Amino acid sequence: RTAVVLLTRDLRLHDNPALAAACAADRAVPLYVLDPALAGLSPNRTRFLHQCLADLRGQLRAKGGDLVVRQGDPVAETIRVARETGAGTIHLAADVSGYARRRERRLREESERHRIALELHPGVTVVEPGAVRPGGGGESYRVFTPYFRSWSAAPWRGQAQTPQRVALPDGLTAGDLPGPPAGESPHACEGGETEARRRLTTWMRQDLPGYAEAHDDLPGDGTSRLSPYLRWGCLSPLALAEAARDRGADAFVRQLCWRDFYYQVTRVFPGISTDALRPGADNDWRYDDDALQHWKDGLTGVPVVDAGMRQLRDEGWMHNRARLITAAFLTKHLGIDWRLGVAWFFRWLLDGDVPNNSGNWQWTAGTGNDTRPYRRFNPIRQALRFDPDGVYVRRYVPELKGINGAAVHQPWRLPASEFRSLDYPGPLESHRDEAVWLR
Ligand code: FAD
Repeated sequence: RTAVVLLTRDLRLHDNPALAAACAADRAVPLYVLDPALAGLSPNRTRFLHQCLADLRGQLRAKGGDLVVRQGDPVAETIRVARETGAGTIHLAADVSGYARRRERRLREESERHRIALELHPGVTVVEPGAVRPGGGGESYRVFTPYFRSWSAAPWRGQAQTPQRVALPDGLTAGDLPGPPAGESPHACEGGETEARRRLTTWMRQDLPGYAEAHDDLPGDGTSRLSPYLRWGCLSPLALAEAARDRGADAFVRQLCWRDFYYQVTRVFPGISTDALRPGADNDWRYDDDALQHWKDGLTGVPVVDAGMRQLRDEGWMHNRARLITAAFLTKHLGIDWRLGVAWFFRWLLDGDVPNNSGNWQWTAGTGNDTRPYRRFNPIRQALRFDPDGVYVRRYVPELKGINGAAVHQPWRLPASEFRSLDYPGPLESHRDEAVWLR
């Protein structure tokens, strides 16, 4: 018996139910199809993906198998490989975005046409989207806290076995894997399960114990930074949640539940990137190209916002507190359409994905699942609270390196001659009224 597993964003050997199921057959074809439809979305993520694939290929070779790589339409290529190898079954991890659901539907149709079985598996989240549902017949939870309660009480599946040996069918060519293309962020982290596990081990030892107190501290940088590895499935979210739960790290497990929360929302609202989740909440956005560009460039004149936006470009990642501050600044302060923020983050983030990016943007813009949609984030108050000595700002905004302590958060308060000597803008023209409020 031969089985194909179409890998998508589950690029790991450990706790990979789809891969484990395929490897239970006599011969297994772990397949990745480089999809031109996704290639141009984000050079950062494409680079990361290639690093993940190279690592996975190395690991599969060490087990006697290989990663088979093809290029083109994932459905057509998967069927082609399945037919070439006489496979009776195709395995796939179920996913939630509109794109992933369409791919799955087409694969189902095509595999039926060719009399090949298609089996879907969990693995992208801790608890499967749709597995816990609100009472009264609702399809998904719209508010986090009740979801968290049900999620915490739900049984978790057993972890899948790591394959010990992988036997590829004879005569199948593995296909070339081009070297990682250039990304855009000079300090992006490196992809792959091996790197993910190395980071996980260090982080669990050093920072997990203090996570509950430190996760909002901008300069301390004490969050796991594992999000890109979760995004690409280099780490199993379930294995991570279990390890954290065993160590009593409830605050961290709760964050993983936020991730699952947006997956179950997206499963029911596939238009999450374009349509407001709260009907009627979406109106009166401004389209100010100049202000938008200042925000993108980290030149709004509000240092904590600029620091976050520059971290994004420099590392392809941004601290969660900074994401909240920068997103609230764009939507609630400049009044600019949240979709433009979604697109900019989506280009740069190594962890960028539809459910978490769009879900969090909608939460911040007040169009989504926030129970207090009109809340405002005062960026200066946020900065003074979460970066009290200005260390985070000075790390990413070199023009302000010479300003000590918290004064760095309001450079416009410096004596006029000193402020003019900085190569740094005053608060944006287009929110001059708000600039008064900022003082
Ligand atoms: P940790 O604090 O170590 O948390 C562990 C894990 O929990 C994260 O890796 C992540 O998988 C999950 N998590 C934590 N916070 C959230 C949250 N608010 N929502 C969903 N999952 C969470 N996260 C993404 O993975 N992809 C995105 O595209 C994304 N876009 C965002 C856009 C905005 C505007 C905002 C406000 C947040 C966004 N987040 C996104 C959520 C969060 O900022 C990141 O998951 C987090 O910063 C990743 O860093 P970490 O791994 O160190 O997190």
